[in-house]
Amino acid sequence: MHECFHRGAATFMILGNLCTRGCGFCSVPKGSPAKHEFALDPFEPSHVADMAARMQLRYVVITSVNRDDLEDGGSRHFAETVREVRSALPNARVEVLTPDFCGDLKAVARVLDAGPHVFNHNMETIRRLYRRVRPQADYRQSLHVLEFAKHYRGDVLTKSGLMVGLGEEPAEVHELLRDVRAAGTDVATIGQYLQPTRRNLRVSEYVTPEQFDAYRDFGLGAGFRMVFSGPFVRSSYMADLVSEKASAAPELRA
Ligand code: SF4
Repeated sequence: MHECFHRGAATFMILGNLCTRGCGFCSVPKGSPAKHEFALDPFEPSHVADMAARMQLRYVVITSVNRDDLEDGGSRHFAETVREVRSALPNARVEVLTPDFCGDLKAVARVLDAGPHVFNHNMETIRRLYRRVRPQADYRQSLHVLEFAKHYRGDVLTKSGLMVGLGEEPAEVHELLRDVRAAGTDVATIGQYLQPTRRNLRVSEYVTPEQFDAYRDFGLGAGFRMVFSGPFVRSSYMADLVSEKASAAPELRA
């Protein structure tokens, strides 16, 4: 379990410390499911809830590594963590930042049934760069996850994030924003990719503040309730404020 804390909000990463995937931008350690340390800690959900309660959090983000080795993708454990946190902190808002669960929509439903206030699944990059940036993921599959989440629980705010500076063209970012919005997603976050270690993908470009503003304007024009676009924006960055503002924003045209 990892956590990071910011003004009454914190992010917890669950399902262990090793990921079964190898995304080019991510520095989370990769590992083989055959290894002993891949065993799930049955007490992780209650430990997360205990810690969140002791920190008196107002906003809790729960995210995870990918667990393609598990029959349910870790969705039961994920849902249990949401339930434990909601029970320990009934007044806090809970955001889930989920993997794609290999497109298993029952797994997505299981997490939504646990009652998160915000459902976040990051597209991360444009369609053309998937093979290089998210080699074990699928652009259409991630869109389906977002679309299903909004369809299944229309009252839950849906969110998706992407990184720029990986070699994409503005027209490709526009296509991605249009696709994500067409999936019913309420909020988009756009930030600069920064290379976390020497083994990760290199930065192709540092996107200008003007281009970030232009992406925000394009996204708002496409119908998102809120678009957070800037060099330091991350998917959980100011998640509490993003959620608060987006929930208060009036419905935009479909
Ligand atoms: S699936 Fe998530 S945790 Fe795993 S390598 Fe990709 S971005 Fe990192």
